[in-house]
Amino acid sequence: MKLPYAESHKIKMVENIRKSTREERIKWISEARYNLFNLKSEQVFIDLLTDSGTGAMSDRQWAEMMLGDESYAGASSYYKLKNAIQEITGFEYFLPTHQGRAAENVLFSVLVKKGDFIPGNSHFDTTKGHIEFRKATAVDCTIDEAFDTTKEHPFKGNIDLDKLEFVLDSNPREHIPMIVVTLTCNTAGGQPVSMQNLKEVKRLADQYKVPIVFDSARFAENAYFIKKREKGYENKSIREIVSEMFSYADAMTMSSKKDAIVNMGGFIAMRDPDLHREASTYNIMFEGFVTYGGMSGRDMNALAQGLYEGTEFNYLESRIGQVALLGKRMQEFGVPVLVPFGGHAIFVDAKKFLDHIPQEQYQAQTLAIELYLEGGVRGVEIGTLLADRDPVTRENRYPKLELLRLAVPRRVYTNNHMDYVATALGNVYERRHEIKRGLKIIEEAPILRHFTVELDRV
Ligand SMILES: *Cc1c(COP(=O)(O)O)cnc(C)c1O
Repeated sequence: MKLPYAESHKIKMVENIRKSTREERIKWISEARYNLFNLKSEQVFIDLLTDSGTGAMSDRQWAEMMLGDESYAGASSYYKLKNAIQEITGFEYFLPTHQGRAAENVLFSVLVKKGDFIPGNSHFDTTKGHIEFRKATAVDCTIDEAFDTTKEHPFKGNIDLDKLEFVLDSNPREHIPMIVVTLTCNTAGGQPVSMQNLKEVKRLADQYKVPIVFDSARFAENAYFIKKREKGYENKSIREIVSEMFSYADAMTMSSKKDAIVNMGGFIAMRDPDLHREASTYNIMFEGFVTYGGMSGRDMNALAQGLYEGTEFNYLESRIGQVALLGKRMQEFGVPVLVPFGGHAIFVDAKKFLDHIPQEQYQAQTLAIELYLEGGVRGVEIGTLLADRDPVTRENRYPKLELLRLAVPRRVYTNNHMDYVATALGNVYERRHEIKRGLKIIEEAPILRHFTVELDRV
């Protein structure tokens, strides 16, 4: 018999978590204005709000923390990280930043100006935020299959080449500073991009002389899917695949809080020394001197080690296997979920789950609240709240998908926790017709509103 996967780690230290009562949760969620971001973490039993910065560092990463060099300039930790990035991605130049959106802020300060168009697969919310803040437009060129939650397609994060070519063709070159490819495509449900697609995007980009930037938060998970799903890559190592992926990019932004398994950190990496020089000025202004840019030496050390651990096959197999287990259990309860399962999260189709509640009442947020009330599980809305308002008309943007995302932190929860979550959601599914009302907005911020929005029951 083929042996199943098993975690490539064992547990050395534990953190206790506490269940609450339904009465407590009813009170807490109302005090939190029906925004799960406003809950205290101890009011949550299983926290699947995000996989960002919530992973468990290894003993080696903690050991690296002790070796951190906190020199202001030229710290050994900087060079350790530089070597790791170069070895894994092939990029010669890099700038540390305190997290992924800071990397976007610095890089986009150089590249993006008013009136620009930035095509790509579905942009992440902070990426889009940084583009729109500069009065430029993010153009979503994801393949249509990505918007059908029931359609099995191995690479739903792929870019539609016709859509991309249309953008490249119909705008002046000087208004297209870059193409952004997000790996895996978080907004489309943690869906991967194929190597074939990366190659074809590169061919078009070369033809139109537009640089490609990878938004790389989950590049290792993307590589794992390429290995499992794309012909010709089954016998290649994750590192070989990663290295080929990045060969099709000119620069990358990284949120190290994802696939590099650290709690905080990010970076920009690039091939072009001129771009590095220009971005350095902004890095110094916004983040810190170029050899630490918002990170402690110890954090750069842990990040370097995390890049190696995060690109190991056995780790990725158990990581993505655990996410798939959560998805399978939910399907057994009849819960409508996006397929194929994402690498870092299971996305519940709230439009189908709560089809009797109108989208104007924030179906996915309503479902997130119900799951919290049921079992103290915290997920996050990826729907109308996240989609925000149109920057010009200020009307709500209603996205095609209304999803509840349950993101699984790396190396944190056991499969019993996954069973608990699936059962809780199964219970909500059984009583879904008793949920009669959705939510309405009481208070919201002009940009990235979902973090601070205040809601109430309709
Ligand atoms: C998390 C994330 C970011 C932003 O990174 P932060 O570290 O949260 O600032 C950007 N792009 C993608 C795809 C992400 O998942």
